[in-house]
Amino acid sequence: MSVVRHNWTKEEILEIYNKPLMELLYEAATIHREHHDPNTVQVSTLLSIKTGGCPEDCGYCPQAARYHTDIKGNDLMSVQQVKAQALRAKSSGSSRVCMGAAWRNVKDGPEFDQVLEMVRTINKLDMEVCCTLGMVTENQAQRLAEAGLYAYNHNLDSSEEYYKEVISTRGFEDRLETIDNVRKTNVTVCSGGIIGMGEKVEDRAGMLVALSTLNPQPESVPINALVAVEGTPLEEQEPISIWDMVRMVATTRIVIPETQVRLSAGRTQMTREGQALCFFAGANSIFAGDKLLTTPNPDVSEDMEMFKVLGLSTQKPFIKKMQPESVEAKDSQYQHLGEKPKWSRPDYKIERNEEAKQKAKILK
Ligand code: SF4
Repeated sequence: MSVVRHNWTKEEILEIYNKPLMELLYEAATIHREHHDPNTVQVSTLLSIKTGGCPEDCGYCPQAARYHTDIKGNDLMSVQQVKAQALRAKSSGSSRVCMGAAWRNVKDGPEFDQVLEMVRTINKLDMEVCCTLGMVTENQAQRLAEAGLYAYNHNLDSSEEYYKEVISTRGFEDRLETIDNVRKTNVTVCSGGIIGMGEKVEDRAGMLVALSTLNPQPESVPINALVAVEGTPLEEQEPISIWDMVRMVATTRIVIPETQVRLSAGRTQMTREGQALCFFAGANSIFAGDKLLTTPNPDVSEDMEMFKVLGLSTQKPFIKKMQPESVEAKDSQYQHLGEKPKWSRPDYKIERNEEAKQKAKILK
């Protein structure tokens, strides 16, 4: 039985990533079987509860207000709208609803209170609830936990070195701080990244060092392939090959053996055979639904058809950890503190992000 290690080095991870493919696949598949049922896949539905208008400058993101993309923004959804979508997701086999809001960070106030109510509502539908709302303070993470949140997503995106090439409006250390704040609660951590942003293989290994040396390691790790969106600074990035994706999934499975490795953005560019190889290499979770926040995703019925062909079944909720109890708002033991997370690199700029901003101004 492979053990969970928290001392992986970049060199060791690179050696794994660059193994002959058959050897890499065999090792990853063996470790996968030691820690998971290889015929079960966890299905999550990602809901964009507040789209667009984000003040950050993530170079891959069409929701950043400063770029010129075709994204239609929307204000925060109502609790009823979210409940209706969650029920639909449940009936089509999802065990988890992940709610994403295009915010830099959570702000205490009526909108956050509304999100807390969404968390309570979905938890009462006996589904795992995940949120991705940007940076959170410890107090905010505690309030989410108290409402019944199961997981919080906060991706590291890339290595610490390459992160600086893609995002200037917050630092890698800010990401780690939010993960640390979530870890102080009983909410599980979902954190992964994106490949195909122009990073080197060393950066992919660097990201896996950062994730695998967290103690405990994240309970889920989404691996995204960049979907290059017109109008963003990364619009001209070529799609990555399926072999990069398979290698990344297999390496993640080996160095973070107990996590759920989630195939996330970029699945529409992958064939069924490519996805099957990823499942063999240790992926055991997908996002379902025709949209991933704003980028396209395979139709749910296509996914269920693929599962049938591959003999895979969907995982029930709360297999890995017990369902949290939701405390009602009136019984909350936490006060609104109105805290603001600090920005660790206020004067930092990325040239290509600035260029995209100027181009967007001209087009407007
Ligand atoms: S990835 Fe998130 S934080 Fe970055 S611009 Fe998009 S919505 Fe904002």
